[in-house]
Amino acid sequence: MNKTKYIYILSQRYSGSTLLSFLLATHPAIATIGERRKFYNKSLRPDGKNVQTCSCGQPFLECPHWNEIKEAVLARLETAALDTNFTEFEFFKNKHWNRLGQYAAKQGFFSDKRQQLCNANEVLVEEILKQAQKSVFLDASKVLQQAHWLSKIPSFDFYVIWLVRDPRAQVSSALKYNKWSVQEAAQRWTTEMKKNEVALQKGKFNYLDLHYENLCKNPMQQMERILDFVGLDASLFSLDFRTREQHIMGNTMMRLGKDEKIVERKDWLKRLTPKQIKLVERTTHRYKNYHTASH
Ligand SMILES: [Zn+2]
Repeated sequence: MNKTKYIYILSQRYSGSTLLSFLLATHPAIATIGERRKFYNKSLRPDGKNVQTCSCGQPFLECPHWNEIKEAVLARLETAALDTNFTEFEFFKNKHWNRLGQYAAKQGFFSDKRQQLCNANEVLVEEILKQAQKSVFLDASKVLQQAHWLSKIPSFDFYVIWLVRDPRAQVSSALKYNKWSVQEAAQRWTTEMKKNEVALQKGKFNYLDLHYENLCKNPMQQMERILDFVGLDASLFSLDFRTREQHIMGNTMMRLGKDEKIVERKDWLKRLTPKQIKLVERTTHRYKNYHTASH
């Protein structure tokens, strides 16, 4: 079977996954829509909650690129496949049932539903690649749970890029969008880090680790490293990702920033007090090797 190369960005929020998607999308073999898992809510069955804009500047529901994919996917899927949010691998609509369902599915139950969810995602990926006339799919969905389901799809040749940002910088960004204390934000970073680390160490995935700070400091070298890892021609990408039209879902500010360059964001040094920085360092001590942001 001819497998489709599938690159999955595993990362926490506010860790540079949108930047990485834009960079990788400059490669002529790679197609992406950003966070694939949001496609159902944003395009197929708009929940009206996040009326957002595509990186091309148009609202999602009006972007011709998105609508073409949407039509092609709807034409191929049975109505039953659209009952639940398949891009989030939703087994049941009810949140609690869904959690149980996902757990049970991992033990081998609900195999028909699981097959249906996997198939619907395969169809989506096929249609995105077909429309873009590319062969490699890039998914910036970030969360571990998604990687678990996707990696089991036999038609995908699955690669994980584990992107990690210095917790001091990540916590500072997270605090802008969440009402957490510094301690709480740092604790959350550590918890998610542990979860991802354990899953990767169990050897479930073929993965490459990448520090956000290294990507900013040496994008050329890091991009080549990533492309080598996934087996693509490492000479065929561009750092000039702003000049291309992209249709990507992700962090709004990053997505629409016109003057974005590859510069490590260091505003955490001003946003956090020295005492708060110390607190984050203590809470994330176990991952001291990730305290790599420049001062
Ligand atoms: Zn668009």
